[in-house]
Amino acid sequence: MSDILTPQQRHTCMSHIRSKNTKPEVRLRRELFKSGYRYRINVKKLPGTPDIVLAKYRTCIFVNGCFWHGHKGCSKFVMPATNAEFWSEKIANNRERDLRDYAFLESRGWRVIVAWECELEKSNFLYTVSEIQRQLDINRESWLVDMADRRKRREEWREVIKTKKDREKILLKQICQ
Ligand SMILES: [Zn+2]
Repeated sequence: MSDILTPQQRHTCMSHIRSKNTKPEVRLRRELFKSGYRYRINVKKLPGTPDIVLAKYRTCIFVNGCFWHGHKGCSKFVMPATNAEFWSEKIANNRERDLRDYAFLESRGWRVIVAWECELEKSNFLYTVSEIQRQLDINRESWLVDMADRRKRREEWREVIKTKKDREKILLKQICQ
């Protein structure tokens, strides 16, 4: 079998995939908080357990490790020479699951931001945070528009129902007279 791991590999494997409160994650959270953003963390009832959820912005942020989530073209994403088949399958699965989770969230009106670990390293950190904040503000605007649209559609629908009921009332009156 080609997918036998050394105990160390297995340990690394088990302990990293769903690890929470990683350093880049905590750093990003702290910075967002400092800028006045409020959020919940590791929200289990949403698919993929998003790391940071900003309800007011209808946004989920996933802080993804470059290796475990297969950051394409990234220098941190290098397939190990041993058990290459095992790892590539594992990472392909993770990536597939990620995309499924994002698609589901988006189908429910959530905006998804992926922050890669390499983008949160010191040299890129401030730039990445400002990009995330810019995106959050865009998301907030578009979510407000969505909600206004929904409200409008609901009101229009209510109007349709009301007209229908009024007509029935008139009809009923005519019949009873
Ligand atoms: Zn990366």
